[in-house]
Amino acid sequence: MEIEVIRKTDPEVAELIEKEFERQQTTIELIASENFTSKAVMAAAGTVLTNKYAEGKPYKRFYNGCENIDKIEELAQERAKKLFNADHANVQPHSGAQANMAVFMYAVKPGDTVMGMDLSNGGHLSHGSPVNFSGLYFNIVSYGINNNGEIDYENVRQLALENKPKLIIAGASNYSKIIDFKKFKEIADEVGALLLADIAHIAALVATGEHPSPFPYADFVTTTTHKTLRGPRGGIIMCKQEHAAGIDKAVFPGMQGGPLEHIIAAKAIALKEALSDDFKVYAKQVVLNAKALANSLIEEGLDIVGNGTDNHLMTLDLRKMNKTGKDIANVLEKVGITANKNTVPNDPQSPFVTSGVRLGSPAVTTRGFKEEDMKEVGKIIAEAVKNSDSEEKLKELRHRSLALCKKYPLYED
Ligand SMILES: *Cc1c(COP(=O)(O)O)cnc(C)c1O
Repeated sequence: MEIEVIRKTDPEVAELIEKEFERQQTTIELIASENFTSKAVMAAAGTVLTNKYAEGKPYKRFYNGCENIDKIEELAQERAKKLFNADHANVQPHSGAQANMAVFMYAVKPGDTVMGMDLSNGGHLSHGSPVNFSGLYFNIVSYGINNNGEIDYENVRQLALENKPKLIIAGASNYSKIIDFKKFKEIADEVGALLLADIAHIAALVATGEHPSPFPYADFVTTTTHKTLRGPRGGIIMCKQEHAAGIDKAVFPGMQGGPLEHIIAAKAIALKEALSDDFKVYAKQVVLNAKALANSLIEEGLDIVGNGTDNHLMTLDLRKMNKTGKDIANVLEKVGITANKNTVPNDPQSPFVTSGVRLGSPAVTTRGFKEEDMKEVGKIIAEAVKNSDSEEKLKELRHRSLALCKKYPLYED
């Protein structure tokens, strides 16, 4: 096994990897952006492909010896196009943020106006946060969500008419409703803006028809490959043919040097898996499990932003319980549930404290959790929130979460 090879050279790192495996094996992973890849995806990321420089595009490289790499990257491109029904795919972005950066580089100039969802309302850092390149170099106009947890499209339209953005971003890291890409397109057309759909979170749902597709509305579609898509950490940009050459140039030589071809091979494998019937079943279950968790929490008397979910995630609203997201995320860690604090609409707390916790179903669904298990997860969370000061109760809840983990072992075959 690889770990033995690592141990021979570096026992310190080997031990930490083993501990991390133990942590993943024995905790309930509800971080909505995480998942567990297949063994094949992981294996590809640890191959000789990491040794190869391949700047440029398949069959048009700046280095020799790329005959095998070219075919691997071409497979990844073709599978991405097929899965999402896209004209063009660039599979080289090292991450979702870099994919967005490349679209910015191609579509707008520093100082241009860009519209995106506000970070504290569920948007991503790379959609215009002041601490991110997107917020530093561009004039950002942010839109948010209303008290029902929904995008107010009329407000987006008004903001667009007033500010005349060159680029509008539709997509989020914490949004539990269906995104109406057609409406975004109508707004973009009305003001002459280009439309970027960032489906980093909902990629698997889009690929399998569980969420409406941004094609043919968006000019560009960016995604991560490691969230619901269940591949290696990385990004992909898809776009209309008219933008293909410009996007490719923005990725390389614009933003990046040599592509990570070992990761691109892992992306190709993940995309093949995502094209299978099994993956359709998986994506459907992701949504069913999120709904089951939301229902369980509501039955237990807790609040969910928007009172439910249409996709793979939700935000627990702790205001009524007089608890903070920071405290409850730490309490959940004590009972073996990993999740992250998150702001709720009009949050009275700072972004470091918050009044919410984001919960997602993609990772536990990969493990095999079904609706009845999510119901139990909801009960464990609710009891932890209500008894957060009782070490004894938290200990009992830890046993219950461990029992669920043992029911669905990771990487057993
Ligand atoms: C996660 C995410 C990204 C960035 O992905 P990284 O790979 O972490 O850079 C971009 N956009 C959205 C909407 C995301 O949720």
